[in-house]
Amino acid sequence: MSLENIAIGLGVDTHRFKEGGPLVLGGVEIPFDKSLDAHSDGDVLLHAILDAVLSAADQPDLGTLFPDTDEANRGRSSVVMAQEVARRLNVAGARILSLDAVVICEQPRIAPLRAQLRESVASMFDIRMKRVNVKGKTAEGMGAIGRGEGIECRTVVLVERGQSQ
Ligand SMILES: [Zn+2]
Repeated sequence: MSLENIAIGLGVDTHRFKEGGPLVLGGVEIPFDKSLDAHSDGDVLLHAILDAVLSAADQPDLGTLFPDTDEANRGRSSVVMAQEVARRLNVAGARILSLDAVVICEQPRIAPLRAQLRESVASMFDIRMKRVNVKGKTAEGMGAIGRGEGIECRTVVLVERGQSQ
């Protein structure tokens, strides 16, 4: 493996809460009294991850692949978006080497969900759970996230690009 084929990707996403659960994070349905408001299912963790992966693999970004102006994308499961991103990686001969994500919110607590979230994301890309990390962080009561108005997620990923890239 040549280091010249390694590329980094950064993904950031934020969504506002709306009343009524369940909350979908990393493809996992979490019992919670709020969910995230979005054109799709609002899976803020997956959106940040997918944008990071697409960026590192030199692919179009998530908003270009699944525009929110397209009615076909209304309520679309982000797991389906992840399947398309995984397919694109395969076609390009690229693979994820390492992925790290931070979910920033006051509620719910992410720590008890970590193993489940890691496993879910790893299985979507057919990589080992050890290669994926997800951790939670609060905003210490500061700003919109600190007031509990939504969830922000930041992700970095290392991708080994295919020969053609
Ligand atoms: Zn999003």
